[in-house]
Amino acid sequence: MNCIFCQIAAGEIDSDIIYEDDRVVAFRDLNPQAPVHLLIIPREHIANLDATSAADAELLGHCALVAADIARTEGIAESGYRLLLNVGADGGQSVDHLHLHLLGGRRMQWPPG
Ligand code: 5GP
Ligand code: ZN
Repeated sequence: MNCIFCQIAAGEIDSDIIYEDDRVVAFRDLNPQAPVHLLIIPREHIANLDATSAADAELLGHCALVAADIARTEGIAESGYRLLLNVGADGGQSVDHLHLHLLGGRRMQWPPG
């Protein structure tokens, strides 16, 4: 499968990986939208949240907890941050491998664009 995030997780494409374990990888977004912009992905190829089921509950929870840990180490936990998951065309998803965006270091806007 020609998935760019699978290739990043496998180390086949260079990226600025800041955390990894047996289940997830976190790396800096190539086109950052905030001073801190990281992507947290499962190593397993899952297209998006719509492709998940109860069997993925532990993995999804782990992704969220890793994001919270990274927010602390990046120094944005106290000032606050946004954790988001784009799903499908209307959600603005452009890479079909599930990823959490961790954004911080500036005040986020609401409503989102
Ligand atoms: P989406 O729009 O699917 O929610 O987010 C995809 C994100 O992946 C975008 O923010 C985009 O900048 C980032 N991205 C796309 N290709 C690469 C890449 O090859 N390396 C890295 N580090 N980020 C990428
Ligand atoms: Zn993939």
